[in-house]
Amino acid sequence: MTATRHDQHGRYPQAATLQDFQRHLATVQARIAAACQRAGRDPASVRLLPVSKTQPEARVRLAHAAGCRLLGENKPQEALGKWQATQDLPGLRWSVIGHLQTNKARLVARFASEFQALDSLRVAEALERRLQAEGRALDVFVQVNTSGEASKYGLLPREVAAFLRALPAFPALRVRGLMTLALFSSDAARVRRCFVLLRTLRDRLRQEAPAGITLEELSMGMSGDFEIAIEEGATVVRVGQALFGARALPDGHYWPSSCEETPP
Ligand SMILES: *Cc1c(COP(=O)(O)O)cnc(C)c1O
Repeated sequence: MTATRHDQHGRYPQAATLQDFQRHLATVQARIAAACQRAGRDPASVRLLPVSKTQPEARVRLAHAAGCRLLGENKPQEALGKWQATQDLPGLRWSVIGHLQTNKARLVARFASEFQALDSLRVAEALERRLQAEGRALDVFVQVNTSGEASKYGLLPREVAAFLRALPAFPALRVRGLMTLALFSSDAARVRRCFVLLRTLRDRLRQEAPAGITLEELSMGMSGDFEIAIEEGATVVRVGQALFGARALPDGHYWPSSCEETPP
């Protein structure tokens, strides 16, 4: 059985040079290919989303030089700053993968191509209004809490069907699929259960999804667990540290230990 690599957390080597980054990228791609082979899947069916949060602009430039064209960021303000600083890099697009407060919807509507953490109708409404004003559309993923931890954002699995039924009211949001953060644990069986839950939920909801909502994508898996996620059907893996190196800031900065907002 595939193990997690959460024991590596905080110990990944830094990508200080383009060569480092290219080497890390090749390693991650080889791990993706191996996981696909175990699962009998085509590696082309898995998209690697490099996550550049906390990384300085210079590292963003390395990723672009290595061929990356869509980067994931957790915080809208930080992402906006990097977007503004890298206007000279052709074809670089941004995916916001962290919880959004309605007062930041304006920022995301301005620059993001993708938003992976949609978890309330208030945020959907705010994004729709701002996107209409900008004349833009946004690819979105609905975030689901599959770990049962109160500290994780996302809808409860039983709330997702009704949520999806409400989304056709927001035509600027192009719903691509579901996203989750698994339990952060070295217990691979418990991590896997989170991914299985997201996939089975998607398979069930696909039957009854409103017209225009296809739910093709499953965004699940990060540096410590993306191989297990691929074995369970991930179509997008969000990988930060294994590409860029360990982050200086503690993860509590990104995954709050308590929710400021309770789900509806
Ligand atoms: C930071 C982050 C990741 C990537 O985590 P790594 O351990 O750096 O691979 C994935 N998803 C989300 C939502 C994140 O905030």
